Amino acid sequence: MLVLTEAAAARDWVRRAQAEGERVGVVPTMGALHAGHVSLATAALAECPRVVATVFVNPTQFGPGEDFARYPRDLAGDLAKLEAAGCGAVFAPAVETLYPTGAETTIDVGSVALPFEGAIRPTHFRGVATVVAKLLAILPADRAYFGQKDYQQTVVVRHLARDLCLPTEVVVCPTVREPDGLAMSSRNAYLSPDERERALCLSRALRTIERLVSEGQRDAAKLRAAGLAVVESTPGVEPQYLELVREGSVDRVEHVGGPTVVVVAARVGATRLIDNVVVG
Ligand code: AMP
Repeated sequence: MLVLTEAAAARDWVRRAQAEGERVGVVPTMGALHAGHVSLATAALAECPRVVATVFVNPTQFGPGEDFARYPRDLAGDLAKLEAAGCGAVFAPAVETLYPTGAETTIDVGSVALPFEGAIRPTHFRGVATVVAKLLAILPADRAYFGQKDYQQTVVVRHLARDLCLPTEVVVCPTVREPDGLAMSSRNAYLSPDERERALCLSRALRTIERLVSEGQRDAAKLRAAGLAVVESTPGVEPQYLELVREGSVDRVEHVGGPTVVVVAARVGATRLIDNVVVG
């Protein structure tokens, strides 16, 4: 597995593979990899003979006072996992490579970046859209793989790809969970054993809603209240939002009439966690 830090070498790797007639997949990550990230590489390898993963803790998607400085970093461990998964290359650039001195261009995808995560982290999706555009400019892959875990991010990235006429197809892969239901996240490492237990209320709330929908409940207000009750009744957990949106969008629904995503975010101690499930 090649480890590349320079943009020109990374772009060459993709172009050479494509010149040989191979489809190329890219898996963008911020490192501290877990089985959820590895599942994206595995999905990419099932469809693309050549896969490049990126490991880059993107400073612009962290707000002031967020966890950029203490975000977990483990490049050696990440490289071992990506090599074992079968990636052909990893692009792990320095900050200056993606943000050269004087870089001021940013990408604002508009309304899909405003609610939910965007309301709580106002500059987050500008950072995400900008770095994904840069990564796909450097790595003009055929397909880019993202996790359903970050649902609103998948909506933002799909809009980015469509609106900027990017040649890369966006693929979204299912959320990988711990055996007890907690969605895997690099930020789970911040949780104390007690918080780790309380954090289960997010997936429990989503499962409660899933069950109610399967029993015939379609009223979004009732479903939302039932889910929120699960989160609110867990001490030490502060819900931030729980909403039902039309799949593929961030538009709230009043009635579950088709594929609907239940998105939830909560603060567990000092750690923010998000999760979602598709119902209907
Ligand atoms: P991150 O390193 O957190 O920026 O995540 C990199 C990619 O992995 C994003 O597309 C995430 O949505 C995806 N991802 C993170 N956690 C999971 C998970 N538990 N299951 C599936 N994909 C995930």
